[in-house]
Amino acid sequence: MRAIGIDIGGTKIAGAVVDELGTIVSHNRRPTFAAEPQVIEDTVVEMVQHLSEGQEISAVGVAAAGFIDASQSTVYYAPNINWRNEPFREKLEKRLGIPIVVENDANAAGWAEFRFGAGRLVSDMVTLTIGTGVGGAIVSGDRLFRGGFGAGAELGHLRVVPGGLPCGCGAHGCIEQYGSGRALLRMANELADAGGIGQALASVRTRNGVLTGLDVSELIGVGDPGALSALRTLGSWIGQACSSLAAVLDPQLFVIGGGVAQAGDLLLDPIRAAFLETLPARGYHPEPEFAIAELVNDAGVVGAADLARHYAETI
Ligand SMILES: [Zn+2]
Repeated sequence: MRAIGIDIGGTKIAGAVVDELGTIVSHNRRPTFAAEPQVIEDTVVEMVQHLSEGQEISAVGVAAAGFIDASQSTVYYAPNINWRNEPFREKLEKRLGIPIVVENDANAAGWAEFRFGAGRLVSDMVTLTIGTGVGGAIVSGDRLFRGGFGAGAELGHLRVVPGGLPCGCGAHGCIEQYGSGRALLRMANELADAGGIGQALASVRTRNGVLTGLDVSELIGVGDPGALSALRTLGSWIGQACSSLAAVLDPQLFVIGGGVAQAGDLLLDPIRAAFLETLPARGYHPEPEFAIAELVNDAGVVGAADLARHYAETI
């Protein structure tokens, strides 16, 4: 049966009716007008009512950034919305009368890749989403890994540099500070300041007043040595993080997603190189594959809908 997936992002709420094969049947999106919990709740309810008109829907999965409890009902904490111990599932079930699951957005996206995307042929995989920050998801033995409290797989906060750059989470040296889109911009600005291979970055910055992610990706696209150097540095940090993750999780596959992953092999090559350089017991440790995510913008809604359908089948 079809299910609805809703993905609550920082600037928009996306929703879709998704069938058993992960295909989007219809979709809808609205801007996120406010971080106010009541506005978000009302918008989600309206979207579900609108999407389910004339459809038989088994369940609704809602993906959002934040810590969700192990029973997928309460949002302990969300960085973008004023949710603190929010019983979101109970509230939505009361208003909609349909089974609801709430899932961390990176977990939903990783699950979609596992079911219908780059990971559909493996049982064990790790997804790293390189957006503004770094999101992560782990599938182990065909199951989504959530941890004992539901707050696991926060891979962006894996420490790669003891005493390193301060992170928004309060710790220092997290991979998010070295392997995210924001980190890529920081490195590009440092190269622009230094001159040399950073000349093109510097002239774009002078022309536009500020360097954006789009500027850097355009320069990567035309083979600018400065932008490529920043991308390689980012890739090498991600590769090192992957070797630590491989030592713990032994995945068959790493899936790299997010805006920066549009660079394709230009990103995967330095990731693979740094991974092999730092892999424990290299030569004896089985070597996983690396792939770019396939579902891109739809992963959140597709994964949330699929997780909700599985949940509805078990109750
Ligand atoms: Zn952190």
